[in-house]
Amino acid sequence: MDHNYLAELLFPHVTETPADIEAKYPARQLPEGAKVTRFAPSPTGFVHFGGLFPSTVGERLAHQSGGVFYLRIEDTDAKREVEGAAEGLIKTLAKYGINFDEGAILDENGNIADKGAYGPYKQSQRGQIYQTYAKQLVREGKAYPCFTTEEELDELQAINKKEEIKNTDWQAEAEAKKAAMLAGRSFTIEEVEEHLKQNHPFVLRILALGDPEKKTKFTDLVKGNLEVPENDEDFVLLKSDGIPTYHFAHAVDDHLMGTTHVIRGEEWLPSLAKHIQLFSYLGFRLPKYMHIAQIMKLDENGNKKKLSKRDMGANMDDYTRMGYCPEAVCEYIMTLLNSNYEEWHMQNADKPYTAFPFNIKKMSVSGCLFDFNKLNDVSKNIISRMTAEEVTAKVTEWALEFDSEFGRELAADKAFAEKIFAIGRGGKKPRKDLATWADAKDYMGFFYDRFFKIKDSYPEHFDKADIVSTLKEFISTYDESDDMNTWFDKVKAIADKLGFASDMKAYKADPSAFKGNVADISMFIRVAVTGKQNAPDLYTVMQIIGKKKTIERIERMIGSLN
Ligand code: GLU
Repeated sequence: MDHNYLAELLFPHVTETPADIEAKYPARQLPEGAKVTRFAPSPTGFVHFGGLFPSTVGERLAHQSGGVFYLRIEDTDAKREVEGAAEGLIKTLAKYGINFDEGAILDENGNIADKGAYGPYKQSQRGQIYQTYAKQLVREGKAYPCFTTEEELDELQAINKKEEIKNTDWQAEAEAKKAAMLAGRSFTIEEVEEHLKQNHPFVLRILALGDPEKKTKFTDLVKGNLEVPENDEDFVLLKSDGIPTYHFAHAVDDHLMGTTHVIRGEEWLPSLAKHIQLFSYLGFRLPKYMHIAQIMKLDENGNKKKLSKRDMGANMDDYTRMGYCPEAVCEYIMTLLNSNYEEWHMQNADKPYTAFPFNIKKMSVSGCLFDFNKLNDVSKNIISRMTAEEVTAKVTEWALEFDSEFGRELAADKAFAEKIFAIGRGGKKPRKDLATWADAKDYMGFFYDRFFKIKDSYPEHFDKADIVSTLKEFISTYDESDDMNTWFDKVKAIADKLGFASDMKAYKADPSAFKGNVADISMFIRVAVTGKQNAPDLYTVMQIIGKKKTIERIERMIGSLN
């Protein structure tokens, strides 16, 4: 067969050669050891939590090594593409510190544009480039057109399957598929000419002469040493509309764009044999690979399962709605990605996560477990270290978007909100009440009459009369100008008067000698003023809401108890 002739028949419009293209994509001039990484999402919807993994790793490795991190939009599947998804993706990633040096960017009008010399960075704009390499492969006898339609292929597969009855089902299927595909290998130039004359569509397949019995040793930087069988599947390079498959686009793009490390989900691991073969056919140097484990979650029965698209916590936009600050999510991801992150963080509490020396060797080989409790812990720590001004600004911004009534209250008196958020902040052991901005309303909404509600009731075993007496006593002695100690001495005096222990030591020595202790007395007052058994420091709360409101609330409680 004259392969040159075949190549011209199939790709008459392709006039450039791979050499012409290579000349436009010169090797990058980067310092020794600099890594070139990319994030290559398909714009089919929202950013998945799982997508933040490879992108964070790519970002860290590139920027830690003085390399380049770029964004490539893999939009070769028009059917699955979602309008505006690429734009949304760039914005969401930026929020989580995933900033690109190069690639698809948003221009000042919010449209996707290219930045950098290795574009276009949208695969749908690279058709001519893929065709050029495809033509070369045909010329070299490494790829061939297959005019067998999907239906014919299915039919052949079904017939072959019957003949393979002796085999188990999956074997039969695989064999049948292979036989059907191999049938497409034999054709004559005349047949091709006839098909083309009739405008029959074709796909371009690789001619895979590998022997799966033979295995090559391969080192994945995450998974370790692997043995990869040679590929014997004539997989598709170009679909019938001339658009490349993932495999082909991956090889051509990562080669031309100078990717040194391909960081992707482990679902691509089974395709590695194809990629090794393809890089070799094309004469490209194989990049280093890092296949990242999938994120798992525990289901209702405590079994591990993949965090799926529909699971809570999968969609990054949900985190915004739930009121998580991006720093918390980023830091949480670090704890999942590098087992020594937390230890480092304890010693470097005031440094951002970007100062952490990210280490490929500390990555988990099998799946990480997603856990909201852990995320909340990380988040509480981060928020507890913020200033009251910062917290006020962030809660207000979040609330104005997602809980406008609350947002408007906060915005109406910024100084008041700051005073509230300042409670228990600063110092060695700051309060850790907030995991999300959405938690703020429950935590401090009671400061505002509009959100004040008695949420907790008094424990049954207390005598109502004691509660009422406490509240009345408190009102009669309350002086707003008292300092904290005087204020507390008065609370203790109420305890003594009503037969509650004012001294905790005495109480512990013989609890049966008292009706309760001073903490119970404080709780009686706290529930009346804040509506909750658990609230920030009561003395400060009263100072902030003022005497009038304090007394009003206590009186209202007395009224409701009588
Ligand atoms: N578009 C592929 C995906 O979204 C990219 C995989 C890769 O990074 O190579 O899974």
